[in-house]
Amino acid sequence: MRAMVWFRRDLRIADNAALFHACQSADDGVVGVFAICPEQWSQHDDAPAKVQFWIQNVACLSQSLGKINIPLLIVPTPRFDELPSEITSLAAKHECDALYFNREYEVNESERDDAVAKAADKLGITTHRFHDRVIVPPDSIETQEGKFYTVFTPYRRVWDERVAGETELLASPKKQSKTDIPSDSVPTQIDGFDFSDCDSDLWPPGEDEAKRRLKAFEDHMGQYDEQRDIPSVAGTSRLSPYLAAGVISPRQCLATALNVCGGNLEKNDGAKTWVSELTWRDFYTAVLVGFPRVSKHRPFKLKTDAIRWRDDESDFNAWCAGQTGYPIVDAGMRQLNQTGWMHNRLRMVVAMFLTKHLLIDWRWGERHFMNLLIDGDLAANNGGWQWSASTGTDSVPYFRIFNPFSQSKRFDPDGDYIKEFCPELKDVPASALHDQKKLRKALKDIDIDYPDFVVDYSKGRQRALDEFKRI
Ligand SMILES: Cc1cc2nc3c(=O)[nH]c(=O)nc-3n(C[C@H](O)[C@H](O)[C@H](O)COP(=O)(O)OP(=O)(O)OC[C@H]3O[C@@H](n4cnc5c(N)ncnc54)[C@H](O)[C@@H]3O)c2cc1C
Repeated sequence: MRAMVWFRRDLRIADNAALFHACQSADDGVVGVFAICPEQWSQHDDAPAKVQFWIQNVACLSQSLGKINIPLLIVPTPRFDELPSEITSLAAKHECDALYFNREYEVNESERDDAVAKAADKLGITTHRFHDRVIVPPDSIETQEGKFYTVFTPYRRVWDERVAGETELLASPKKQSKTDIPSDSVPTQIDGFDFSDCDSDLWPPGEDEAKRRLKAFEDHMGQYDEQRDIPSVAGTSRLSPYLAAGVISPRQCLATALNVCGGNLEKNDGAKTWVSELTWRDFYTAVLVGFPRVSKHRPFKLKTDAIRWRDDESDFNAWCAGQTGYPIVDAGMRQLNQTGWMHNRLRMVVAMFLTKHLLIDWRWGERHFMNLLIDGDLAANNGGWQWSASTGTDSVPYFRIFNPFSQSKRFDPDGDYIKEFCPELKDVPASALHDQKKLRKALKDIDIDYPDFVVDYSKGRQRALDEFKRI
């Protein structure tokens, strides 16, 4: 039996369910395939930094697969529509009897997979699909009424029970029977995506790098609960691009956390809190599966459709450019612009600022993030945006609006993070960075070219409260 493994956002050989099972079953070789779909990726707002990261990781994967006699073929096709015929004709050409892949849960992706499975079936090729992107499959956690959970805490309770004792990782595959099929070369440029602004040194590709980061984080995971909200400190794992591209599996992360706490999360607050974030990742994927409207630009709370968002492009552009006059907001947006990544605390701060103080539609922000993030992931991004905008499941109550000055005072007291990304503020005393009046005075005294407040935050806050109360 010869198997084809279709890689997508699971660009690794370790602990990869589809690859593992294909290698277990095949006795006449395994062939890998990866599809490059630039038009579809553009339509999904995938960022150039992310696309570059994908193809760099595909090149690393091709090398690793080569060592175990698995060639990696590249299918260049603009859109998903052509994949049923492209993938299955390639499988038939190379005499593959079965097609293996790990599930993707977004609407377009799962429709694509159904179409490919149907086309494969017509050619007598069996399809095997696996849950691999998450720790617990989205449809396997249900309420007593058989519904999807919409609140995190009870979901987490069931999730905890489900993962207890289930951290055995799948072995990396051994050498397979040789085929005479050569690997295709992996392109370094993709039509429609400009990589010239991407600083790929920040995020080196490859499974070894992902494992190195996990190992480095393991050593200070115990302090995660204390450090994770301080953006000037490397207190989080910075694994999100690797998890989003599947260069490391969430199970590998969970196994490491359980190792840190000797199998009992109650004994280590850092590991416990970190696993909670991995649970949020599964939870938002489950929300996407249970409530597909959220991936079709609809709010989870349907009545929030009635909010009269301000279509103010000028305010939106100031926010995008990191020119709002609020130092913590500007630092966050500039970190995104410069590095393709933003610290979680800042993602919440800037998202809430856009949707509450500026009362601009969360969908504008969601899209802007996807256009730039190296770790852009529909479920997590949508979940984060709808949480911040109070339109989502288990989201922040609309009246709990972060004050940007209190946030910076609490999480960046010395202004280290602000000054890294807003260097023009380097001579402003830290206390002035966290106070509207003092900031204006300091800017005048030192004569610094820094924008005026795009909105008075008290007025912006009241405007948002009034609008949410109205509905
Ligand atoms: C508005 C907004 C947009 C976001 N967009 C994305 C996105 O597109 N892609 C993305 O991966 N995360 C997103 N997040 C979640 C979170 O900000 C990032 O996962 C985190 O900052 C990544 O840094 P890290 O790898 O150091 O995380 P760590 O703190 O080390 O957490 C470990 C992993 O858990 C997962 N995770 C952590 N927090 C969350 C969360 N709140 N929701 C879901 N998964 C989480 C990530 O995979 C992360 O790598 C968003 C959050 C907000 C508020």
